[in-house]
Amino acid sequence: MAPLETDYLVVGAGATGLAFADTLLQQGNAHITLVDLHAKPGGHWNDAYPFVALHQPSAFYGVNSLALGTGRKDTMGHNAGLYELASGAEVCGYFQQVMQQQLLASGRVQHLPMTRFLGMADGAGRIASVLSGAQSQITVRRKVVDARWFSPSVPATTRPKFSVAPGVRLVTPTGLTQLWQAGQDRPSHFCILGAGKTAMDVGVWLLSCGVPPDAIRWVMPRDSWVVNRLTTQPGEEFFMQSIGGQVQQMKAIAEATDAVDLFERLEASGQMLRIDRMQLPRMFHYATLSEGEVQLLRQITQVIRKGRVQAIEAGALVLDQGREAMDAGTLYIDCTASAVDVRAMEPMFQPGRILPQLVRAPLVSFSAAICAYVEANFDDDAVKNRLCTPVPFPRSVGGYVAATMASLANQMRWGEHKAMRSWIRDSRLDGFGKMVAGIDRNDAEKTALLGELRHYGAAAIGNAKRLIAAAD
Ligand SMILES: Cc1cc2nc3c(=O)[nH]c(=O)nc-3n(C[C@H](O)[C@H](O)[C@H](O)COP(=O)(O)OP(=O)(O)OC[C@H]3O[C@@H](n4cnc5c(N)ncnc54)[C@H](O)[C@@H]3O)c2cc1C
Repeated sequence: MAPLETDYLVVGAGATGLAFADTLLQQGNAHITLVDLHAKPGGHWNDAYPFVALHQPSAFYGVNSLALGTGRKDTMGHNAGLYELASGAEVCGYFQQVMQQQLLASGRVQHLPMTRFLGMADGAGRIASVLSGAQSQITVRRKVVDARWFSPSVPATTRPKFSVAPGVRLVTPTGLTQLWQAGQDRPSHFCILGAGKTAMDVGVWLLSCGVPPDAIRWVMPRDSWVVNRLTTQPGEEFFMQSIGGQVQQMKAIAEATDAVDLFERLEASGQMLRIDRMQLPRMFHYATLSEGEVQLLRQITQVIRKGRVQAIEAGALVLDQGREAMDAGTLYIDCTASAVDVRAMEPMFQPGRILPQLVRAPLVSFSAAICAYVEANFDDDAVKNRLCTPVPFPRSVGGYVAATMASLANQMRWGEHKAMRSWIRDSRLDGFGKMVAGIDRNDAEKTALLGELRHYGAAAIGNAKRLIAAAD
């Protein structure tokens, strides 16, 4: 192989690596090489279950230079009336298009699929082919971009942490969709293991496929607050819900006495939803659902709240807080992979290395694009790190305030730079900025709402410190 050289070596060609590379390419003349273990761009989306879809509207996911989807609203199903959500297959096809049409076509990008990054030595990246094992080096003239910080675990590539007795039927969500294959017995019951977004997707899918609710059991170690998808809509017609939602968030942070009170206020104003209104959720990971999906999931009433699964035995589940007798014909669906393994934050700009993390929670692709914009347009690492201060991903309800206020603080720093402000406003990855910039100043209702946003934003800053300290 000819000696390899590049300006930026991007490790990981998932949403983060691609959004970073796309903006860096648009903002300068650097040469970029992406290495990835997968055969195709798109990261974990390549391993996803067939019925997966984005949580958020396609309108502001992906890379900056290419639109994802058609910009239409769904007319049927649980997302009816809201902007379309790309399916996993659509996301993979889109990222393939990004690679071919936006990145490789530039002549300044190289993609090395099925390639493992082994580390750096003397200014060169060591890489190895997954297929042949052959190792080579790539000289890095500027920086390594480690786009693996999020790398969510997904069921298809994660082994369960509990033991499973012989004869127990345990499948991934992908395996669930293969029950049509010959030789598969029809299960008497389905048992969903896990309480995150994948588990919610499985519940919605089973019910939508006509499985009776009383044939479904759900092991839910912790209940979760979920974001009401109505408040994430980018279109002008949703101004009152989206920008109004931000006002409600700031008002709630300004006035809440603690995290429990905060989330109850957010629920009362329609920002947050919970599946079981009799439970007090302790988890918040930005899982996003429509009100229709939440209504549907409320039909599953056989919920097992005894902590995490330790073992599945023939005819019983062993959980942290006791045993649960189970029907012998139960099919267990493993949704326990943690899509949001929370890693320690680090400065994003380090000597010779960039580590993209969140600059606005929870938007992964917007954050990676901002990180690339800052790399291309600012020189000093201290300035870059100020503009890209990592936003902590919430581990529980207590982390919501810190994530929201850190996102707001970054936004205020970006506002100090005119060119950056206008780049963000024009970026397709920024959901709401255009909505605010485009309002008719004679529209009294909208102008008043923006006034409230400023008022409660300022008030939130004071109370947030108290709420964050209490959560710590
Ligand atoms: C089901 C699901 C739905 C989601 N929906 C949304 C959404 O709607 N909006 C949103 O903002 N976020 C969403 N997320 C969050 C998600 O984390 C991001 O959207 C995003 O896809 C993560 O991309 P990534 O590039 O950071 O990680 P990954 O997709 O995991 O990519 C990391 C890549 O690094 C590669 N890699 C790892 N180690 C090496 C190595 N040693 N050498 C070479 N390559 C390596 C891997 O092969 C992988 O391709 C969702 C997550 C899940 C699981």
